[in-house]
Formats: sequence, C-alpha cells, structure tokens
Amino acid sequence: MIKVMDSDERKPAAKLSTTVENYLSLIYVLERDNEAVVGVQLAELLGVTPPTVTNTLKRMARDGLIKMDETGPHLTEQGWDSARTVMRRHMLTEWMMARMLPWSKLHQEAHNLEHAISAEAEAALFEDLGRPKTCPHGNPLPGQEKAVTSWRPLTKIPPKAKIIVRRVHELAEQNSELMAFLESKGIMPGVEATVVEVLPFNQTITLEVQKQRATLGFAAARYVFVEPSA
Ligand SMILES: [Zn+2]
Ligand SMILES: [Zn+2]
Repeated sequence: MIKVMDSDERKPAAKLSTTVENYLSLIYVLERDNEAVVGVQLAELLGVTPPTVTNTLKRMARDGLIKMDETGPHLTEQGWDSARTVMRRHMLTEWMMARMLPWSKLHQEAHNLEHAISAEAEAALFEDLGRPKTCPHGNPLPGQEKAVTSWRPLTKIPPKAKIIVRRVHELAEQNSELMAFLESKGIMPGVEATVVEVLPFNQTITLEVQKQRATLGFAAARYVFVEPSA
C-alpha cells in the first residue's frame, strides 16, 4: 500500500500554528514583564484546560520554541524570534483596523487576522503606518520597550494628580468588557485625566476624564499606565 500525504495529519498542524502563535505572544508578554509563566495562569488566559496547556507546551518544547524548567516554560532564542514577529504583526494589524473599528474591538479583530499577515505585508504596513513605536493601546512594539518605561501604573499615582493616559496593558486588551468600559469612559492613550479619589480599603480609583467620572478597581487600574501631565 502506498502511503500518500495524510491530509488529516496536515489539518491539525495548520491549526496548531495559530494556537502556538497565541501561546508565543502570551508567554512573550509575561516574560517581557518578568511575570511568572505558570501553566494554570496560561490556561485561564487562553481559555483552555491545564492538560491542554501542558500538551501544547510539550509540542512547543519539542519544536525548540521553549525550554521547560522548574519555574515553567521559557522562550528559546528561536521562540523569542517567532514571538516578536507574531507581536509585531498583531500590533500593526490593530493599527490597520483602527481606521474602521472602535478602539475596544481592535485587539480581538487583530487576534483573528494576525496569523495571515506575510513578511511582505508586515513591512509594507509598518511603513504605511509611519513606523509606530506602540500599538493603539500604547503597548510597545518588540524592540521599542524603552518608549514606555517612564509610564506608571495608575495604582501608583497619588490622589489629585493630573495625568495623561498612555497605555492599556496587553493582558487588559484581552478583556473585551473592560476595554468597552474604558472606551465608554474615554480612558484611552493620549487622554488627560485627574485622579479624584483613591480608596485603598475599597480597592478603587476614581478618575475625572472629559468632565465625566469613572471608577476602576485596582485589579484593572494596574493595567492602565499614565504619565504626569505638565
Ligand atoms: Zn492586542
Ligand atoms: Zn494593542
């Protein structure tokens, strides 16, 4: 019997690459920010079960994208390379979609499209968009991390401070309800605001943005980065 190319085997492989790209970008963000990459947390963020995460990580280790040790998965050089490409394409796709879609929906749309962007399209987009340093949410393109280091999380800002919103972290981008809330309150990069009240016992921060008040819990506020306004 002649063994022909098994199309059933090829299908999961193609699908796997999208899955792997999603794992790569998530591990990239966690490692970049020196956060522990724990299987349980990956499962939660990716919306899959821990055993699924374990299996995918095994495949990624086999393919040389990550190394496993006691502390969890870590990107190899090849893994960093691939992750940087995924992140760049994701962020450029967000900018492309920003011409037609609401800010709070860009991440999800780009998340679905980013896997189809070629190297040629990526380079063309980068030039066409004027070589951006961040995504529309203020997160740094790979290699542009210095552009965002002076921005502080909202949880570190004292009451009465006048601020400019600069960044909503990648981990918050994944939460579409939070993004819709931030957009509805005008809490987006470039917007000026005043910290009206900080209530540690209540774990809340109230901002005044465009004459409107908005209250955020610390859990969300730690993902909003700002700088003092002059
Ligand atoms: Zn995004
Ligand atoms: Zn973004």
